[in-house]
Amino acid sequence: MSSFLSGRRKNLTPYTPGEQPQDRSYVKLNTNESPYPPSENAVRLAKEEAERLELYSDPECRKLVKTAAEYFGVEEDEILFTNGSDEILNFAFMAFCDEAHPAVFPDITYGFYPVFAELNAVPYEEIPLTDDLRVDVRQYCGIGKTVFLANPNAPTGLALPLSDIEEIVRSNPGNVVVIDEAYVDFGAESAVSLVKKYGNLLVAQTFSKSRSMAGARLGFGIAQKELIRDLNTIKYATNPYNVNRMTMAAGIGALLDDAYTKENCRKIEETRAYAEKRLSKLGFSFPDSKSNFIFAKHESISGQRIYGRLKEKGVLVRHFTKERIKDYNRITVGTPEQMDVLFEKLAEILEEET
Ligand code: PMP
Repeated sequence: MSSFLSGRRKNLTPYTPGEQPQDRSYVKLNTNESPYPPSENAVRLAKEEAERLELYSDPECRKLVKTAAEYFGVEEDEILFTNGSDEILNFAFMAFCDEAHPAVFPDITYGFYPVFAELNAVPYEEIPLTDDLRVDVRQYCGIGKTVFLANPNAPTGLALPLSDIEEIVRSNPGNVVVIDEAYVDFGAESAVSLVKKYGNLLVAQTFSKSRSMAGARLGFGIAQKELIRDLNTIKYATNPYNVNRMTMAAGIGALLDDAYTKENCRKIEETRAYAEKRLSKLGFSFPDSKSNFIFAKHESISGQRIYGRLKEKGVLVRHFTKERIKDYNRITVGTPEQMDVLFEKLAEILEEET
């Protein structure tokens, strides 16, 4: 830390992204990226747009907004694009949280929420998940705070039904409820259909997972136009050109190539079912995942040990040190071939360690 760092930032603990080691090639199952390449259509449009990089991007993202509004069945003023969905989440903390509207989220969830809360000096409450790692919906009903819920939750993969989400939104009319749907395309129900009905709902989604565009950084929020206007105030107060030209073009390409996205989601769901069977046979247990990852713990070897031994053998998974979940590893669902490498290495480890 330099002597220049603001006193306001001295105690800020930043988010830790999944490791990206360069020392050798790994089977990378640690950051929930898609194992499939982006749509060819997206790549072609991004390449064409690269010829125009001397010009700023459109701060209103008009072409992308139009395409997305049609795709999601919402109005153009009900959608806002950002630099990854991390940015729309940060905007939501900046726009909708303060002393009078503290944030609330589960104790086990996306690790960026407490960081955004700290960054923006927002008071927050963390509600413990139940012993079986579920969100206890009743605890969020009428809570009177700005609610942040990942659905499906990360890193558990468990999803709430739409009726539960609606109950939380309906019972907190004085607060914004943010539903983070980063993983919704792998089998959960989206709350976008509720936006017309509830003025306090913001749904955040991303192109990083189901649309294979993690490296492009494209996320968005859908809400009624008043909330989107507030979020735009934050955007224009921080970075009006937050979505670059190539990413915007790729986003349009991906939306127009929806059959490709759906096919990849189907393959990932199929591989997830296959992986769950294989993991069970190897002595792992896990909650019922509706996402592109499996949160698995072994009956006899610690999570830390499995993570470390897999890394030695060239397979990366994500291990969290938080006490409640330190027995688990979050394993991204890759291609069937990548998963077979994982199972082969796990079988070796079990043989060596037990
Ligand atoms: N929400 C959740 C629950 C996530 O796991 C992630 C990915 N790390 C994000 C949001 C943000 O993803 P991105 O910024 O790539 O859209």
